Amino acid sequence: MPDISRFSILNSLHQSLRYFEFRIFLPPWETGTGTETETGTDAGMGALYSLAMNRVSWERYFMNLAVQAATRSTCPRKSVGAVIVRDKTILSTGYNGSIRGAAHCTEVGCLMENDHCIRTVHAEANALVQAACHGTRLEGAQIFVTASPCFNCFKLIVNAGIRSISFGEFYRDERVIQFADELGIEMIHLGLADETGDE
Ligand SMILES: [Zn+2]
Ligand SMILES: [Zn+2]
Repeated sequence: MPDISRFSILNSLHQSLRYFEFRIFLPPWETGTGTETETGTDAGMGALYSLAMNRVSWERYFMNLAVQAATRSTCPRKSVGAVIVRDKTILSTGYNGSIRGAAHCTEVGCLMENDHCIRTVHAEANALVQAACHGTRLEGAQIFVTASPCFNCFKLIVNAGIRSISFGEFYRDERVIQFADELGIEMIHLGLADETGDE
């Protein structure tokens, strides 16, 4: 399903990132640039201050990063991003793309089977594989993914020891919800953008 709200989400994320750049290089409480803003020597700072007032939650921050990861997707049918986190620290990220070294859907077209493109490795699977490549333990971690996992990815996620799945939009597979319930895996429907944002 095409997601027409994505541009506004990314725009909002971009603004957030601008805010962080600003914080890193020009912390107003240390440099006194607040005064300069008042005198008009630093136009635009006022708007950035207001972003500080709308600081995003940790959950929204990680979902925003998953949305950002999805922008690296190579399948035109669907862009999905995933971020694996423990103790507010990013352990791994992934997006849906071809087998390493193989041609992308964007170059040679999708490889269709039963109305699905099967050319790509899914975002969640790639995030798990990236953790494995770096020897990163995922027991007790959380995953943030822009669309709820397919059944295969769900099985991998659970067997990697991840106990909490936050997703942006629900995607197809009800079995994931049923098994999560049975297994005590937390499923959180976060949405793709903050309700208070400009979705
Ligand atoms: Zn494809
Ligand atoms: Zn999947």
